[in-house]
Amino acid sequence: MCFVDSSAADSVDLSAAAMTRYECSACGNRFKGMGSKLSCPDCQSTDLKKLD
Ligand SMILES: [Zn+2]
Repeated sequence: MCFVDSSAADSVDLSAAAMTRYECSACGNRFKGMGSKLSCPDCQSTDLKKLD
């Protein structure tokens, strides 16, 4: 009896891992985003720092 339903946990982990925290170097705004082409939602700068 070693049944493990990991589908639900996997989907949660994936969505959490896909969101990366960024800080805008231009205005200091911190936000979460995903993907490689991001811009600050406040000032539209693409000069972003990854926080983790
Ligand atoms: Zn900004």
